[in-house]
Amino acid sequence: AHMEKNDMIRVLNENHTDFLSLQFTDIPGSFKNVTISADQIEKAFNNKCMFDGSSMEGFVRIQESDMYLHPDPDTFLIYPWNTQSGQAARLICEIALPDGTPYAGDPRHVLKRALKKAADQGFTFFVGTECEFYLFQTDELGHPTTETNDTAGYFDLGPLDQGENARRDICLNLEQMGYEIEASHHEAAFGQHEIDFKYAEALTAADRFVTFKMVVKSCANENGLYATFMPKPVYGRAGSGMHINLSLFRDGQNAFYDESSQNGLSHIALNFIAGLLLHIKSICAVTNPLVNSYKRIIPGGEEAPSLVGWSANRRGTLIRLPASRGKSTRIDLRNPDPTCNPYLSFALLLSAGMDGINRDLLPPPSIASGESFEKIQKNTDVLPADLGEAVQFMKSDPFVKEVLGDLVFHKYVEAKEEEWRQYSTSVTEWELRRYLNRL
Ligand code: GLU
Ligand code: MG
Repeated sequence: AHMEKNDMIRVLNENHTDFLSLQFTDIPGSFKNVTISADQIEKAFNNKCMFDGSSMEGFVRIQESDMYLHPDPDTFLIYPWNTQSGQAARLICEIALPDGTPYAGDPRHVLKRALKKAADQGFTFFVGTECEFYLFQTDELGHPTTETNDTAGYFDLGPLDQGENARRDICLNLEQMGYEIEASHHEAAFGQHEIDFKYAEALTAADRFVTFKMVVKSCANENGLYATFMPKPVYGRAGSGMHINLSLFRDGQNAFYDESSQNGLSHIALNFIAGLLLHIKSICAVTNPLVNSYKRIIPGGEEAPSLVGWSANRRGTLIRLPASRGKSTRIDLRNPDPTCNPYLSFALLLSAGMDGINRDLLPPPSIASGESFEKIQKNTDVLPADLGEAVQFMKSDPFVKEVLGDLVFHKYVEAKEEEWRQYSTSVTEWELRRYLNRL
């Protein structure tokens, strides 16, 4: 809820809040935090808090090292828990240069720019995320392992174990922070969970998503477990995805819905799907940002997608169209994983869909559920095979640079090329196992 400066200061005093955490996300997608004490709160609200940008990944340009944090009052929140040192509140901030102009390397700014463009055409973009993660045990030193402590499966109901307790805790905390939890359940694999919360306008959804991950991590930790969003933490077991439900509204109506069309989808929905299909391969390096991401979306996989197509109910395709229509008509995009930067991802996905609308693109026919993968693959594209390929696609599509802006685009490509180079030149355990004592 929106609050004025003075109201926030009053609430902070009433709650005897000791700390204010000023937050932002860097280009790779890490949630960053500068904590100030309560007596500096006025300073924060007057946009006078700064940090040294040169020490941050993706913010490095010496001449721009003084960055100012401009708190967004809509993100004001008092944490429901108490830390050892006291009560804390948070504000998500915009990053500005000393002269007050928005910093081009602020991912939140990139999303706002894309939202503004769509808004100028009358569209509001809504996003709902369905995030999966694993809860692992830690070793004696407190380091994460890949051991799980439960043997439950999808939607299993059993005696409450440590993992279930942790998930309850996460949901309780989220609810106290104003999240509406739509679903929370055990996922397919041992130790794997999913929590879905209500969709929201894209900027809020991105803010909520980064906060959600923080809550999951800290609640798991409180329960003696380690939460990981790594897309494929264990070979042979289900990966963790972040399916993104997308919808566009215009004049208060869901613009993807048309009751007079045969399948209930509007022309705009088809345009949007076509735009996503057209650009997804070059967006993939952002929605699936890690070397490890590509071990989840392998061709022929059952649940994680690889086919660049759309379907009513086939889970191995990029886009699934959930059956609900009317106000809840939406596109379920299945390739992203929870390690992506949600601000940059949402900006790119919206802009891809808008490109489809503005160029009146139409998608190929949808993929039937019964068809074999081999048959479909003959005339359907697949997602990039690895991060290296994904970055190549990203560089070859001018659209991506336009949406991200030069600075973010170059920093991102540079970082991912280096990550890929390091991985592809490293000698892995797999190679040693396979070759060392045979050759
Ligand atoms: N875990 C699967 C993935 O990696 C998704 C399973 C599901 O459909 O919920 O995308
Ligand atoms: Mg799931």
